[in-house]
Amino acid sequence: MAVKVRGKGVISGIAIGKIMLAGQNLDGYLVNYKPGTVAEEKEKATAAIAAVAKHLQESIETMQKNDEMKEQAAILEAHRMMIQDPMMAQSIEDKIDELKNAPRAVLKASEEQAKMFEAMDDEYFKARAVDLRDVGKRVAKYILGVKEPEIGDEKVILCGHEIEPSVIAGMPTDKIAGVLLGSGSTTAHAVIIAKARAIPTIVGLNKENRIDKIADGDRVILDGERGEVTINPSQEEIGSYQEKIRKQEELAAHYAALKDLPAVTKDGVKVKLAANIGTHMDVDNALNYGADGVGLFRSEFVFMGREEIPTEEDQFKAYKEAVEKCAGKLCVIRTMDIGGDKPLPYLNIPKEDNPFLGYRAVRISLHRRDLFLPQLKAILRAGVYGRVAIMIPMIINIAEFKQVKEFIEEAKMELAHEGKVYANNVEVGIMVETPAAAVMAPAFAKYVDFFSIGTNDLVQYTLACDRGNASISYLYNHFNPAVLRLVQRTITAARENGIWAGMCGEMASDPNAAVLLTAMGIHELSMSAPSIPRVKEKLRSITSIQAKELLADVMKMEDGDEIKEYLNKVLG
Ligand code: PEP
Ligand code: MG
Repeated sequence: MAVKVRGKGVISGIAIGKIMLAGQNLDGYLVNYKPGTVAEEKEKATAAIAAVAKHLQESIETMQKNDEMKEQAAILEAHRMMIQDPMMAQSIEDKIDELKNAPRAVLKASEEQAKMFEAMDDEYFKARAVDLRDVGKRVAKYILGVKEPEIGDEKVILCGHEIEPSVIAGMPTDKIAGVLLGSGSTTAHAVIIAKARAIPTIVGLNKENRIDKIADGDRVILDGERGEVTINPSQEEIGSYQEKIRKQEELAAHYAALKDLPAVTKDGVKVKLAANIGTHMDVDNALNYGADGVGLFRSEFVFMGREEIPTEEDQFKAYKEAVEKCAGKLCVIRTMDIGGDKPLPYLNIPKEDNPFLGYRAVRISLHRRDLFLPQLKAILRAGVYGRVAIMIPMIINIAEFKQVKEFIEEAKMELAHEGKVYANNVEVGIMVETPAAAVMAPAFAKYVDFFSIGTNDLVQYTLACDRGNASISYLYNHFNPAVLRLVQRTITAARENGIWAGMCGEMASDPNAAVLLTAMGIHELSMSAPSIPRVKEKLRSITSIQAKELLADVMKMEDGDEIKEYLNKVLG
């Protein structure tokens, strides 16, 4: 029987392939290295830094020509800057004086800096330690004459405690079948890149040395859904997974056939199904799943994975591409939702005891005009290239919304003054993701153009239940009657005031919840693109009368689990 190891599946999908260990061990090379004089070693280090920087620059320029590789290009650009940092050069020189050995000096200097990052509390900074070790190792490899791993014809599954981002970024997309990481970080750049490329990925294999059981060249089955790796599987196991892959493909084909059909109940009630995206690169994928536009563009991803605030121009390019790709369908761009579980190191926000209740999202935007105005200006300018809407996260009172509107007017005035074209008729709505916004929805409805219910946060705030805490996840239920009442109240307020109400939290991707929401009168459901066909199929299988009857039954119930079970029984 083959050995199985488990981690945390972060990108679903099944991959069968051969392991390529990434992150080579340099010990053997270091032992055999014969250093020259101190002056020679310094020269070698300087030459190696220049050569690596040049090689990185060439890769960056090639990648920048390809839209889908821009994110990777940004990461390599950060590496180039790290290795050319004068402080790094000085530190390497000092270490050469001490160790009289260029590769060891480079490794020690980058390790010291990496350790400084690792000691920080912030998850994002911790993850940057990998980048520093990565560039240090590249330079050391250059001095030692170590070649990068050769890529053959076969697809590989990359595996390492920490995989240097440059290894993934530098490999052609069609050569990586999967990624296995010993470290548990989901914000590692390696994971960010894998996500953009939809590569099945498992992290957190380091406990009890599980990753050490996997050797270079092993054949494995990677199950991203279950977070399970089968090492050297039997023919039977491969067969059973091939059967799963076949079923996955069959289901995909079945769903693909639904792509151009509307999401409509048997008796003609239509609901718009849109997609949640993180970057403009996700739009094509969303449209392939049949998305009717974008209901949530999480713009904070434009701010993440970089060293400084993106300029108005950088943001304009990203939003414009998304809006253009939507080709006339609405693209709802949410303004930066930083804070909570999404830190942004360069904002230097002090550590908080309760980040989910703290300085986050619109609270930051309203204090930081240097952040907010360029973002609003970029969105307004992108609006010229299609249909765009602005959505504000974490609103709790009307005063905040009024301030946002003032900012938008100011952004327009600045744009007019600068002679830049912008869309004047952009809808402005709010995320209803706090109980305060939901309770006050009838009042908000008089000011805003739309609501989008963010159940990920609404559930956590209503039930006082951290959305990321596994030990209380049994309480985190979007069918909790308190949540259902707030959702219904919001949709009713929208209908009564002639504005539209959507939902962009995870609840929208639950087919049974979609039936209840349709009965409540929701206009739009926005979700991760792969969920669209499932929800569509469910809505097409019922009548609105059945949905209303179910809603009436459910609203009489007192317990979320009971509601969930009841819907499972009736709807499957
Ligand atoms: C939500 O809170 O439901 C939501 C969609 O936003 P996020 O998950 O980004 O907080
Ligand atoms: Mg939210």
